[in-house]
Amino acid sequence: MNESDSFGSRRIIYNNFTEHLLNAYNPNMTYPDLPYTWSDEDWRSEIKMLAGFGFNVFSFWLAPRLFFTNAVQQPFVKRYISQIRTILDEAHANNMKVEALLCVATMGDEWQTLCPNCPEQLNTILNLWEMWADTLPDMDIWHIFPGDPGACSLNGCTANTFIDLSCQVANLLTKKLPNAEITVNTWGPPIFGWGIIEGPKGWKGEFLQDYQVSAWKHIPERTNECMTYLLKKLPDFPKGTCIAINLGFNPDSKPEGTMDARAWAREIAKTNPIQTWDFSLTEGENCITPHFRFERLFQQRKMERESAPYRGGICYTMTPLLNILSLYEAAHSFLNPDDDYMQLAKDFYNKVFGENGSQIVEDLPLFEVIPDWGHYANFDISKQDFNRRMKMLASKLSSMDLRDFTPQIHIHPSPEYHRKELLFFANFMAAMSESSPDFNALSKQYKKHVYEIYEYLPSHVDPRPDLAMNKMITFFKNWKEDSSPTPGKWA
Ligand SMILES: [Zn+2]
Repeated sequence: MNESDSFGSRRIIYNNFTEHLLNAYNPNMTYPDLPYTWSDEDWRSEIKMLAGFGFNVFSFWLAPRLFFTNAVQQPFVKRYISQIRTILDEAHANNMKVEALLCVATMGDEWQTLCPNCPEQLNTILNLWEMWADTLPDMDIWHIFPGDPGACSLNGCTANTFIDLSCQVANLLTKKLPNAEITVNTWGPPIFGWGIIEGPKGWKGEFLQDYQVSAWKHIPERTNECMTYLLKKLPDFPKGTCIAINLGFNPDSKPEGTMDARAWAREIAKTNPIQTWDFSLTEGENCITPHFRFERLFQQRKMERESAPYRGGICYTMTPLLNILSLYEAAHSFLNPDDDYMQLAKDFYNKVFGENGSQIVEDLPLFEVIPDWGHYANFDISKQDFNRRMKMLASKLSSMDLRDFTPQIHIHPSPEYHRKELLFFANFMAAMSESSPDFNALSKQYKKHVYEIYEYLPSHVDPRPDLAMNKMITFFKNWKEDSSPTPGKWA
């Protein structure tokens, strides 16, 4: 696979299927006895679709639940490994690479962050990386992530500690797997939480939701110090190490004031490839509806292209079985940032639903009425008009007959499944925007349809999915009066 480093040459689909983002539209890779597991055939079909859309890297988070001593001997991890190997096979057959992203030091179900300044814990960290390198030797790219979750501020750890540790891990990986690529991420304000994350007295690095927001403190002196150190340290990383750096050191990648990262990006790009890792553009977290956030997506791509020699970046999803249009648009946003996203959507639905498919496109942006991380559009529409439009959309979707229809592009799952899911959301949002809906019944319906797995999952350290579900319900109860975003980010 030869590729230049020109803008958009690296088009990464990042499917975050970690255990705190599970839902009916995301593969359940970590709880084999619970709903939403995928077959190998599902995975092959998914990868074929993503390659067909134009992605050339499939990325996933090898989550803390799998990052503990002897993990690879556990039955649930063995199944996980087997499916990752299927993904690798299918991706390689479709000329795609696969990337495993790992939090550099965060371990186990409790998301415990180990301290690299404790020799014994450093040893554990390095052994865990080694275990995974030995287990997945065909992995194309290893992506070293600072957190979230994670980050250490104990025992003198700072952002520079993360840079040193990344360098050590990167060299360990390259020694073992000389053909693997390395990416190191600056995610956060920058370098999420290292040296600044707070905890209560006696804290030992375990994950505490209430303190996560402290990891986002932006301190200009800290930024200057750690980014200067990263530049100085770059020659010690394996040759060709890619640095993931957004336009801005904040959750929405906005290049504002002292959080503007563009000058650093340009400096790094003199010696190393760079790409963005903009997590907020396509979906946010746990605001599960059909998405249509393409105005900002394409604006951001154009800004990236003008800002620094980025070779590409991630397009994130936690709902690959639902937000198929977003995947299509996101791949195109790197292939051609000047594309017209409305026209792309129309072309997509004509190919997927037949010649009348494009008729639904004018209504799809209304699914974005709920403010969310990365999406702050304010819709000037009354509840009555919204209700009327959702009913119209439901009627268009109901009248389509796709039983004998062959789509012009391969999508996963089938066009008929996709039609039914859009119809579910059109009906659901129409019902939610009636004059006096039964919110209790509708809430149960939504949870059953989207989040049934939460009836069986052990209580998780991250409470945000529950918060987000309830937020969506209350948005409709109060119709736009409460316009704070869904609690998708640590704020
Ligand atoms: Zn530490």
